[in-house]
Amino acid sequence: MKYISTRGAVPAIGFQDAVMTGLARDGGLFIPERIPDVRAHLAAWKTLAYGNLAYEIMRRYADLPERDLRALIDRSITSFRHPDVSPVVPLGDLHILELFHGPTLAFKDVALQFLGRLFEYVLAQSDRQLNILAATSGDTGSAAIAGVRGRRRMRIFVLYPLGRVSPIQERQMTTVPDENVFTAAVEGSFDDCQTIVKTLFRDLAFRDRVALGAVNSINWARLMSQVVYYFYAAFRVMERTGKDRVRFTVPTGNFGDIFAGYLAWRMGLPVGRLVLATNENDILSRFFNTGVYRRGRVTPTLSPSMDIQVASNFERYLYYCAGEDPRRVCEWMDRFRTTGELRVECRPGGGVDPLFAAGSADTPACLAAIRAMYESRGYLLDPHSAVGVHVAQSFLDPEEPMICLATAHPAKFDRAIQDATGRDLAHHPLLDALNDLPVRRTVLPASDQAVRAFLEEKIGAAN
Ligand SMILES: *Cc1c(COP(=O)(O)O)cnc(C)c1O
Repeated sequence: MKYISTRGAVPAIGFQDAVMTGLARDGGLFIPERIPDVRAHLAAWKTLAYGNLAYEIMRRYADLPERDLRALIDRSITSFRHPDVSPVVPLGDLHILELFHGPTLAFKDVALQFLGRLFEYVLAQSDRQLNILAATSGDTGSAAIAGVRGRRRMRIFVLYPLGRVSPIQERQMTTVPDENVFTAAVEGSFDDCQTIVKTLFRDLAFRDRVALGAVNSINWARLMSQVVYYFYAAFRVMERTGKDRVRFTVPTGNFGDIFAGYLAWRMGLPVGRLVLATNENDILSRFFNTGVYRRGRVTPTLSPSMDIQVASNFERYLYYCAGEDPRRVCEWMDRFRTTGELRVECRPGGGVDPLFAAGSADTPACLAAIRAMYESRGYLLDPHSAVGVHVAQSFLDPEEPMICLATAHPAKFDRAIQDATGRDLAHHPLLDALNDLPVRRTVLPASDQAVRAFLEEKIGAAN
């Protein structure tokens, strides 16, 4: 499979290059030259175990020798504590797709456990090294560290805002003992961290000299590994209910997870609706309902991984929305860059795309959803998943069972659970065990000079 840019101004490249490059040089995102139609295989795939299904899907996108791809998938799966990797739990009208059985208890593990191993594999082939630099507001950092720790030829440097991530999130990042993991608490905001990362990536001489790399959510391999659980869950629920079509509700931030669902639909999975759920930061749900994509201010909420205004994967959807015309994508993105707004024509019935429905849940609605699910079913939702469950209620259809993605384990957000239920219910032995481990972190001022020096010192010391 070849990969092209959403902006159409760079030549097509192969899978390994697309994965290692991240952002295309024309500023666009890589997408496959064509999306494979797998409808003829659905019947045969229904009963496959997770790993075999992952292989069937990924081999259509990743040009790797069969044995190597299978080994990467099989080893990634061993990091998950559940034999099904992503089990689907029936809960009243809903089916909860639990994506939090990985090492850091968040859905990002599904992609990053694979991506870390894939990077290691590609680097070994070309005898290269990579120093990954990432900024995090919480969840991504620990999942990226878990994907890279102990891997050869790679180091990871994670910047997070000092005092502004939860104590659990900080412990998840700073108690990792591996020699290739470095965390720095920056005396500033998450935006400061992100600005520093962008500055260092723009310094091409520095970037080349230290072999800087990224694991952010625009990486194609992350999306590709997330497509798998849409198929897996749809098969389980169709089998369980006897229906031949399902819906998904996806708590959304950077439009990565739900874009994987969109890909599954384009590949031919019978999805009746993709329901996009946002918190108070509702730029995306407003877009799907009104056709207007307008930048706003970020409001901090109980679901911090969805506190995003400009969704980094959204351009991939725009490409298909534009009828795969990169010139229109460029026009839209130019307009958005200069005016903070872009507009897409709505259909006569309203809304941008008949596949998508969208809604949002504010903080009281999120807390109420956690409380209601706990009181009625004894099941704890984390605040991200609760936003999804709240929005899903408006789009139920008995003919198309609803699968709600549960993106984090509730124990990661114990304060919200306490607020919702009035009780200290959310624990997980993996997190409780972190309390006793020594913390390793460096505090740095919010300057790119300081971070540059930090990287150079650590990389130099190891060479
Ligand atoms: C990252 C994250 C999300 C949002 O996923 P996107 O791919 O950015 O839309 C939702 N929930 C949790 C727990 C996350 O960590």
